[in-house]
Amino acid sequence: MDRKVRIFQTLKIFQSKQAVVVGAGVSGLSACRFLLSLGARVRLVDAKPDLPVDTLLKIHADPASVGLTLAAGPHRPEEFADADLIVLSPGVPVKKLAHVLGDVDPRRVVAEMEFASWFLDEPVIAITGTNGKTTTTTLVGHILRHAGLTTFVGGNIGTPLCDYLLGDERVDAVVIEISSFQLQNCRTFKPRVAALLNFSPNHLDYHADMEEYLSAKLNLFSQQDPTCLAVVPADMRDELEARRFTRARREYFRADTDFACPGLPGAHNRENIAAAWRMVQPLGVTEEQARAAIGAFKALPHRIEPVCEAAGVLFVDDSKATTLESVAAAVASMERPVRLLLGGVFKGGDVAEMAAKIADKVRSIGLFGAAREIFEPVLAPLFPVSWDKTLEAAVRRQFALAAKGEAILLSPGTASFDAYHGYAERGRDFARVAQAIQDEGAEAGR
Ligand code: ADP
Repeated sequence: MDRKVRIFQTLKIFQSKQAVVVGAGVSGLSACRFLLSLGARVRLVDAKPDLPVDTLLKIHADPASVGLTLAAGPHRPEEFADADLIVLSPGVPVKKLAHVLGDVDPRRVVAEMEFASWFLDEPVIAITGTNGKTTTTTLVGHILRHAGLTTFVGGNIGTPLCDYLLGDERVDAVVIEISSFQLQNCRTFKPRVAALLNFSPNHLDYHADMEEYLSAKLNLFSQQDPTCLAVVPADMRDELEARRFTRARREYFRADTDFACPGLPGAHNRENIAAAWRMVQPLGVTEEQARAAIGAFKALPHRIEPVCEAAGVLFVDDSKATTLESVAAAVASMERPVRLLLGGVFKGGDVAEMAAKIADKVRSIGLFGAAREIFEPVLAPLFPVSWDKTLEAAVRRQFALAAKGEAILLSPGTASFDAYHGYAERGRDFARVAQAIQDEGAEAGR
């Protein structure tokens, strides 16, 4: 185990302290296990009333013996009142708890990421932004490994940081993706390298306004000192400098690298690559190593991912595009005329602005599911627009319209929860329909 973890254990800093972990997802369960290893008593709370009966057993074989308890269902103030520390899972916005936290000292409420960071000695690279976090986090981890550094990539993606702390392995660098929910409850987090990839309207269903959303993101840089590096977009330079957002050394990036990367198409990915290259340099990665690693990087699923082709029409799955900027970026990256599929739970953004950016490539738009009333009035005067209840019907309609050499692009610009459990399920459904169309064509000899 990590040296710092041992110090906390030896000094019994958490011994018999009452910790509350909010959220029984993968990260929450991992935080419970780690807190128990520190000697704390742990109460797991989750607003869902119907958690699996074996939830606690996934954390410890004998929950009662270690003081592990569960409170499921609507949160109640008494579940939090006696807490010495409240750890929030990545998907839990603190605002959702305001009504039950009462007089609890806000300093006792921490994001899981921040909590885990207290125990890390390794250099940390932390990445946030509205779009491209997972892509860039994965890419940074890939470059570091390629350069021979042992690397843990996690946080919002993959393995929770607490799982890493519980393990014996130690690495040269920790690379984490971090969302604005978590950054709202970060006060001491001090990554060696921190990056803001971009910033645009998102989660305005949750954040009161853009200012609140931006200041959450900028929390990432607030504890950095001049030994640290902040990697930030060149087009935000004036605004960020005026805010004196960090004491760290700053590097402003634009899409200015010439590294070839077939796995990451489009100008937006050139920005991600440029940011990644700046992030890995402080860890000693050379240009030659970066060039080789980036050239070998493979596309991630559901991010402008070619699925199959039927009758010369290419199906492209960009289900992960939940913002309008991502839609515009995906359309811009396409080399074919596009039949675009949009729809789902709208998260904010300017539809007219997006429409202007996609106008030259998009031949028609197939709306599906929710948010029709938001998209249709703005888009119907500009493009041929149809609406279908299901994604399958919309895909089939667009395929009937498409000519050889065109692409059908699922880049929905929304969250998927009106019809799916997540973007991956939506992407798989799209791929299923695309595959069925391909098979039907093969049978019909088309
Ligand atoms: P996040 O983790 O921030 O949601 P992902 O890497 O999963 O980001 O990508 C989400 C979507 O955003 C994908 O559709 C991807 O093509 C698109 N995307 C990636 N980078 C950018 C960028 N720099 N600007 C706009 N869209 C982007």
